[in-house]
Amino acid sequence: MSAPQLSVIIPVYNEEANLPRLHPRLLEALQALGRSFEILYIDDGSTDGSFRALTALAEGNSGVKVIRFARNFGQTAAMAAGFEHARGEVIVPLDADLQNDPEDMGKILKKLEEGYDVVSCWRKERKDPWLTRRLPSAVANKLISWISGVHLHDYGCTLKGYRREVTQHIRLYGEMHRFIPIFAFWAGARVAEIVVRHHPRQVGRSKYGLSRTLKVLLDLVTVKFLTSFSTKPMYFFGGAGSLLCAGGILFGVITLVEKYTAGTKAHRNPLLLLAATLFLIGVQFVLMGVVAELVIRTYHESQNKPTYIIHTIINGAAAPRRRIGGLYGEKSE
Ligand code: UDP
Ligand code: MG
Repeated sequence: MSAPQLSVIIPVYNEEANLPRLHPRLLEALQALGRSFEILYIDDGSTDGSFRALTALAEGNSGVKVIRFARNFGQTAAMAAGFEHARGEVIVPLDADLQNDPEDMGKILKKLEEGYDVVSCWRKERKDPWLTRRLPSAVANKLISWISGVHLHDYGCTLKGYRREVTQHIRLYGEMHRFIPIFAFWAGARVAEIVVRHHPRQVGRSKYGLSRTLKVLLDLVTVKFLTSFSTKPMYFFGGAGSLLCAGGILFGVITLVEKYTAGTKAHRNPLLLLAATLFLIGVQFVLMGVVAELVIRTYHESQNKPTYIIHTIINGAAAPRRRIGGLYGEKSE
């Protein structure tokens, strides 16, 4: 069977009431696009009747695929399974609760055809509670944009469009599906943003609250560290450690100067404590750098992971090819 042009992947966790509303709308939108497609539902360990509903949708319809997890692994894991099993040239993830509008897929495809590899969507008029969702999300988005250097307005929107190559080498952990455009950009992909519609959830309950923002921010630290220092962690730990040691030495000298000029007894001078603390933490940091170097070497060498990403080779031994997300991926073509 030839690969479809478009794969839609939908994470589903207790969305029994939404599936009969979503599926016909989705089919209608897909048929209007006039391309070959497949729909992949990933049942993320639902405890309601979602799986039964999905089985019924897939029956006698080879274009509808269902993957059922053994338990709830989270939306990111569900999407990762979707990316892994999708065969389409373009992959579009979508929420199961109709908060995303299936009709926006046309706009995404158009943008991809302009030559982009990733199209991220901005829920400009987001229909979620302000205090628990929109406000923390606005803060997180600003931070992510600033730290990653990939300036988008809305990282959290599930609806996005990817060229297949972009998704194939990326491993997803924690809440990291929202960072795919950033991984892709760092690996050399062209990323665009478009404004999409957003609707309030009509039935069922949202699975998230405030705690997700904290997870996202912690993930951001990991992502930043992995990309900036993943091949040379010593530069980070060694740099910070040296600064701390220098601070320790500085305060140690001040303590000595005060001892001999003002007669302040060193053991009564609080600066001595500061000097010792800074120096010891500094030494610890440098040692941590050594350990991190060992870990990172094992990480790259045990899996034959390159420390670079090649875009094209001309007249070389290997055929020209595109590798995106090599730092995170384990597979190569
Ligand atoms: N979801 C999932 N696993 C989870 C939580 C959520 O697959 O552990 C799915 C959920 O069914 C929905 C999408 O992820 O299709 C987004 O979830 P939700 O609507 O609760 O998030 P919100 O729109 O409130 O951010
Ligand atoms: Mg939702």
